[in-house]
Amino acid sequence: MNEIRLHNTMTNRLEVLEPVHKGEVRIYTCGPTVYDFAHIGNFRTFVFQDVLRRFLRSRGLRVMQVMNLTDVDDRIIANAAAAGVSIRDYTEKYIEAFLADMNTLHLEMPEEVVRATDHIPDMVSLIERLQAKGMTYASDGSIYYRIAKFPAYGKLSKIDVAGMKSGVRVDTDRYEKDDVRDFALWKAPKPGEHFWKTEIGPGRPGWHIECSAMAMKYLGDTIDIHTGGVDLTFPHHENEIAQSEGATGHTFVRMWLHAEHLIIEGEKMSKSLGNFFTLRDLFAKGQKPSTIRFLLLSVPYRRQLNFTADSLKQAENSVERLRNFMVRVKTEQFPAGSNPEMGKRVEKAENDFDAGLADDLNTAVALAAVFDLVRDVNTAMDRREFRQQDAPRLVATMEKFDAILAMLVDDDAEKLRNLGIAPEKPRLEAAEVEALIEERNAAKKRRDFKRSDQIRQQLTDSGIIVEDTKDGSVRWKYK
Ligand SMILES: [Zn+2]
Repeated sequence: MNEIRLHNTMTNRLEVLEPVHKGEVRIYTCGPTVYDFAHIGNFRTFVFQDVLRRFLRSRGLRVMQVMNLTDVDDRIIANAAAAGVSIRDYTEKYIEAFLADMNTLHLEMPEEVVRATDHIPDMVSLIERLQAKGMTYASDGSIYYRIAKFPAYGKLSKIDVAGMKSGVRVDTDRYEKDDVRDFALWKAPKPGEHFWKTEIGPGRPGWHIECSAMAMKYLGDTIDIHTGGVDLTFPHHENEIAQSEGATGHTFVRMWLHAEHLIIEGEKMSKSLGNFFTLRDLFAKGQKPSTIRFLLLSVPYRRQLNFTADSLKQAENSVERLRNFMVRVKTEQFPAGSNPEMGKRVEKAENDFDAGLADDLNTAVALAAVFDLVRDVNTAMDRREFRQQDAPRLVATMEKFDAILAMLVDDDAEKLRNLGIAPEKPRLEAAEVEALIEERNAAKKRRDFKRSDQIRQQLTDSGIIVEDTKDGSVRWKYK
C-alpha cells in the first residue's frame, strides 16, 4: 500500500501521515461564515476536504472531522440588528442552505458540525487561560492577544513579524491596540448590538478564538490535520496557533493543508466584476451538481483552479463517459468465461488510483487511472475480449473509485429538485422511453426508417441518449 503523504504548509514539505491516535485521523476544518450563500470558491475547499476524508476512510482509517459554522461576526451582528432579528434567526437560513448545498455536491457531513454561538463558554475559558499566562491585555472593554509574548508567531505563514510596520492593518478589527499586530480575543459590546455576559466581561468573541476553542474541545490539544483555504493561512491560522499553543504549550496541529484559490476565466472572482457565483447561480444556468463536483475535484487542491465554460463542458462530458461506461458494463451481453488480462488491468488501475491520492491527493493522477481503465476496457469490449465473469470485479472496482468520486449514480435531477430547482424539460419516465424504443425497433424491422428516425429524434429532444450496440441491443440513458 502506498504511504499517504500530504503537503504541510508549516514545513513546506510532503510528510507521511502519522496520526496521533492509531487508526484515527482527527481533522479540523474552517467552515463558512453564515451571513450569505457560500460561493463556488468556498466549495472548492470543501470538495477537497471531502476527497481527503473519503480517501482516508477508503484506507480503513476512522475519521473524526469537526467543522465550525461562524455564526457570529461583525457583519452578522450588524445585519441581524438592522433586521431586528436574533443572530440565530438571521443565520438559520444560510446554515440550512449551506448544509443543503453540501448534500447536493455529495459532500459527506463531518462528524461534528458546530456553531460558534454554542461555544461561548469554551472560548471564554480559553481566554481565561491566556489571561492567567499573561498573554493578553484589556483596552476599552476588549481583550487582546499580545503577540510579543509568543515568539513563534509567524511560523506558519513565514511572515516577518518584526518587519511589520505600525499602521499596516493585519486584522479588520477597528479597536485600540498596543501593537498593530495584536488581535482581539474578545470585543467590547457596541450600542444596540447583541452581546454575551461572561466572566471576562460583556461582549462577543473575536473570530480566531472560536476555531481554537472548538478544535481543542472536540479533538484534543494536538490534532492531526487542519484544513482551509489558502487565504486563511494569515492571519487566521497564525492566530489559532498563537492562541492554542500559547494556552497549552503543545503543538496545536501536525499538518496544515491549504487549498489554492479558484479563479473564473482567468480572473479573480469578485462581486464587482460580476463573476461571483454561488452553487445555485450555476444550477440556475443549467449546470448539474455532478459537473460542478467533477470540475472542483479534478484539479489537485494545491493548484489554482481556473473555472471556465470549457472546463465545465469537459467535466460534464467526463461524468457522462463514466456513467455510460457503467451502463455498458451492467447491460451488455459479453462472451462467457473470463479473461485473466482484465483482472490484471483492473488491479493496475486500482493501484494507480490509490497511488495518485496517496501522493498529496493528486486527483488528476487518480482520475487518469480511472479514464485509462475505461478506455482500455471499452476497447476490450469492442474486441469481444472482455468476458462475462470479468464484469463483477470491474463493477466492484468502479464502485470503490466512486466511494471517493461520488458521481456514478445519476441523481442530478433529484438533487436539483430537492433544492427547488426544476429541470428545464419534463423528463420522460423510464417506461415511456422503453415503449418508444420498442416502437422504434418494430419500425426498423418493417424497414420504416422514417418512423424510426422520428422516434430517435423525439428521444434526443427529450434528453435521452440512445445507443445501438454491436450485438443488436439498444442502450439508453438520461442526458
Ligand atoms: Zn477557522
